[in-house]
Amino acid sequence: MAIHPVIDLDNCIADQACLQYCTKDVYGLDDDGKPTVDHPENCDGCEDCVTNCPTMVISLVE
Ligand code: SF4
Repeated sequence: MAIHPVIDLDNCIADQACLQYCTKDVYGLDDDGKPTVDHPENCDGCEDCVTNCPTMVISLVE
C-alpha cells in the first residue's frame, strides 16, 4: 500500500479535525465519533491531517 495514515485511537479525542482537513475523502467515522481510514488509497501524503490533529495521534506510513 502507498502512503496512508494510521491513527492511535486510544489517544484520539474525536475532535474530527482530520475529517475537516482531508480533501481526499480518506476518513470515515466509527460509532464513537472517531475516525476510520476508509479510503487509504486516496491519500496523497499532504500531512494536513497530521499537522492539524490537536492531539497528534496521526502518523503517515508507507
Ligand atoms: S495526508 Fe492528506 S490526503 Fe492523506 S489522509 Fe491526511 S489530509 Fe488526507
